[in-house]
Amino acid sequence: MVEKQHQEQALHLLQSVFGYPSFRGQQAEIVAHVASGGDALVLMPTGGGKSLCYQIPALIRDGVGVVVSPLIALMQDQVDALAEVGVRAAFLNSTQSFEEVVRIERQVRNGELDLVYVAPERLLTSRCLDLLEASKIALFAIDEAHCVSQWGHDFRPEYIKLSVLHERFPSVPRIALTATADGQTRAEIAHRLQLDEALQFVSSFDRPNIRYQIVEKGNGRKQLLEFIENEHAGDAGIVYCLSRKKVEETAEFLNESGIAALAYHAGMDNELRSRNQARFLREDGIVMVATIAFGMGIDKPDVRFVAHLDLPKSIESYYQETGRAGRDGGPANAWMAYGLQDVVQQRRMIDESEAGEAYKRIQGSKLDAMLGLCETLSCRRVRLLDYFGQASEPCGNCDACLNPAVSFDATVPVQKLLSAIYRVEQRFGAGHVIDVLRGTESDKVKQWRHDQLSTFGIGAERSEAEWRAILRQAIALGLVTVDYDAYSALKLTEEARPVLRGEQSVQLRQYQKPVKQKRASAKPKGYAEGDLSAAEQALFDKLRWWRVETARKHNVPAYVIFHDSTMREIAKAKPASLDALRGVTGVGEKKLETYGEEIVALIEAMD
Ligand code: ADP
Ligand code: ZN
Repeated sequence: MVEKQHQEQALHLLQSVFGYPSFRGQQAEIVAHVASGGDALVLMPTGGGKSLCYQIPALIRDGVGVVVSPLIALMQDQVDALAEVGVRAAFLNSTQSFEEVVRIERQVRNGELDLVYVAPERLLTSRCLDLLEASKIALFAIDEAHCVSQWGHDFRPEYIKLSVLHERFPSVPRIALTATADGQTRAEIAHRLQLDEALQFVSSFDRPNIRYQIVEKGNGRKQLLEFIENEHAGDAGIVYCLSRKKVEETAEFLNESGIAALAYHAGMDNELRSRNQARFLREDGIVMVATIAFGMGIDKPDVRFVAHLDLPKSIESYYQETGRAGRDGGPANAWMAYGLQDVVQQRRMIDESEAGEAYKRIQGSKLDAMLGLCETLSCRRVRLLDYFGQASEPCGNCDACLNPAVSFDATVPVQKLLSAIYRVEQRFGAGHVIDVLRGTESDKVKQWRHDQLSTFGIGAERSEAEWRAILRQAIALGLVTVDYDAYSALKLTEEARPVLRGEQSVQLRQYQKPVKQKRASAKPKGYAEGDLSAAEQALFDKLRWWRVETARKHNVPAYVIFHDSTMREIAKAKPASLDALRGVTGVGEKKLETYGEEIVALIEAMD
């Protein structure tokens, strides 16, 4: 059978070109299906190995594989990485000169390329479509396929027009890939790209090597610094902030505190932004502080942590952003500090947006799901996977599993809060309401004679931070809303009534004072430096230096030459010949040819 034959061919290419011993997860089925001319819709978490799902079929089938990707800034690195393993690849996008475009178009037409990456807006031009019609096409791969979803956070109008591919090239197989899609988005992708008939491959969304932690925000920046110093000294990581200003301030703060940090946001000068991205990709141990403008398609494998200083607006965003950590499979942290202000801010952004009611409603329910994740008393991962329609058991690798949160019957304190809001006539914000509860005689309290209220001081037993946590959860539960048109005054909702009347009880998570984290908890024994003997470590360090030099010479990121995991394997195995080196994961024929002699010589010189 053809599929059987393709399976063998695929495995051979995987080993000889990419240097990997075996396929992962559903890769083998997907590759065989597409190589045999079938359409596919592939959902795989970040780091799952989507690229091979179209790269190998493109090598098996006649003609060039056309990869549609919105990530122009990364095309160069992708093409460089393919060149390193001996695959003939190029890209077409707006950064090129006319001569360059013409040269690549000629290569496409003459069948001299295995893969060509194209931005969607370029693909849709009649020039490009005509070129493709005059060429032999192996397949179309539509990467980041969730960009077709109008309700999603990465919507690209051009993606909707990609249905033209099916109309103009009905016999060319198409494979759409994404790392973020709930059931609704998946249906939207299938529908809009006319992939209703395509076979769907849905992988487990779990990223077991990522540890999820969501902490109460006190002084967010300080907590971040402690987290990095305690658990990630010298590691590469990404810190997400909501605003450009906060990005710059946070990067500066980290630098002053001795952590190498760079900034990235849409308001920066283009050149500086690209330079920062390139440094993050190429150098070791840089922390990138960024708005969500950063990161799509960033496939740096050794990002050890992703930190959020502000609340993402949906679980999809959170999962996509945190998914950039630990693509190499090593232990990684997804850490977030979250507080009352985040809830208020996100709700306000939805209320104040110009969008229609339907859109606001959807955004509102997405935010509710995100808040549910933050406030959950049980395993975070179970919550996350459940959102993507996947059932699971408590994971043992999230804060809720490691330090179970304590819940308590908060009916009485919530009643106190609600009546305090009511007594000040629903006209005051959080700070004032909490002052009244705690019996603080502020000027404002005296001015409004709120010290005369029956609710004055009824909550003196709790700290301000505790009251903020209670209020935050009351907002998340929909008992209280914030009126932005009236100085952020707190108001009661209909849902507050039964609680006030004592007909309904409320369980909340117990406030936990932000505590110092224990050192290096996220690095289990047996990982990284720990598992190499002194001699192996010396060789590994030497290989690292060699890699820095080589990467500079070839002008590519270091991980494009070899991953850390490959070098660790070399350091352990100490291959004395090219044949022995061939067996190492990540060493394909082309890399063996290019670097084999140097590596073997380097090992010999160590003895
Ligand atoms: P995705 O696009 O799904 O986020 P990638 O295609 O970038 O993931 O793959 C993630 C990493 O896993 C890459 O470094 C890739 O080389 C590696 N990888 C993919 N498939 C395999 C495999 N079968 N064996 C070993 N490593 C693999
Ligand atoms: Zn868990």
